[in-house]
Amino acid sequence: MLGAGPAGLTAALYAARGKLKTLVVTGPMVGGQIALTNHVDNYPGFPDGVSGPELSDRFKAHAERFGAEFLDAEATKIDLASRPIRVWVGEKLLEAKALIVATGMTHKRLGVPGEDRLLGRGVFVCATCDAILYEDKKVVVVGGGDSAVQEAIDLAKYATSVTVVHRREDLRACRCLADKALEDPKIRFLYDTVVDEIIGDKRVSAVRLRNLKTGEVSVEDADGVLLAIGWDPNTSILRGQLDLDELGYIKSDGIDSGKPGVFLAGDLIDRKYRQVATSCGSGCAAALEAITWLEGRPAE
Ligand SMILES: Cc1cc2nc3c(=O)[nH]c(=O)nc-3n(C[C@H](O)[C@H](O)[C@H](O)COP(=O)(O)OP(=O)(O)OC[C@H]3O[C@@H](n4cnc5c(N)ncnc54)[C@H](O)[C@@H]3O)c2cc1C
Repeated sequence: MLGAGPAGLTAALYAARGKLKTLVVTGPMVGGQIALTNHVDNYPGFPDGVSGPELSDRFKAHAERFGAEFLDAEATKIDLASRPIRVWVGEKLLEAKALIVATGMTHKRLGVPGEDRLLGRGVFVCATCDAILYEDKKVVVVGGGDSAVQEAIDLAKYATSVTVVHRREDLRACRCLADKALEDPKIRFLYDTVVDEIIGDKRVSAVRLRNLKTGEVSVEDADGVLLAIGWDPNTSILRGQLDLDELGYIKSDGIDSGKPGVFLAGDLIDRKYRQVATSCGSGCAAALEAITWLEGRPAE
């Protein structure tokens, strides 16, 4: 298993419980992206919500209970054509009969002061996850593509105002989405503008903006800042092993990688939903496929 986010940890639980000798190479982020947030409100079974780190710890403990083992290191190279499949962690060589890759995605960052410190404290990356937390609040959305505009529309159902900050003079989002957003009285657009700083002590309180054409600097009050500037799939390790497109996304669709015994799960193969629940679902499915494949049974 490569990856210890919700997908990898769920796959580990199912694989270990299915009596496979299961090793999870965790990579840099044990628990995955969800460990970065203070409050998860939409994972079933937690009606009062749960903190991201607690949810991750519970996923890991659950897999450990059935015997999954963990190696806190990053896989640096893989050979999917060899038998057994080979995975290197630095100099160390690991061998596996089957491999599940669940290395997730990394959201693109602005690289401005305050961003990292306030991530999960007003800086967020997913309107589906967090819009409800911004009821009657002011939100800034950074970006101008389809997802930025869609997320602004979703946020406007809750927030008092949504300001979309876009560095270009025009939206990149499709016309129908853009028109819908432009008609929404709660949504306003600032073009040719970048965020230079996210301001706040314990939580976001404002953003410092700069107009790229006039150079004018202003401070805008905000309770939340949604980063909607895109995602990078964590596929560098798969380069040369699987077909990737120019943005690094895996071309094959779904759990089956097209290589015998190699399965894919989680956000890595999900350009649309990117939720804990969906990642757990595909982690489960990938492990069941791996078990079926190892037993030599035809997949049903
Ligand atoms: C701030 C924030 C808040 C969020 N809030 C919510 C929410 O409230 N509800 C919700 O449903 N979703 C939320 N999400 C989305 C959710 O976290 C993701 O959909 C989910 O974590 C994806 O799980 P995953 O296992 O596919 O990938 P990830 O969580 O991205 O995990 C990837 C794993 O792969 C590992 N890895 C990477 N490279 C390597 C390598 N070379 N070798 C080995 N391992 C590697 C990483 O260390 C990590 O363990 C949030 C995301 C963020 C960032």
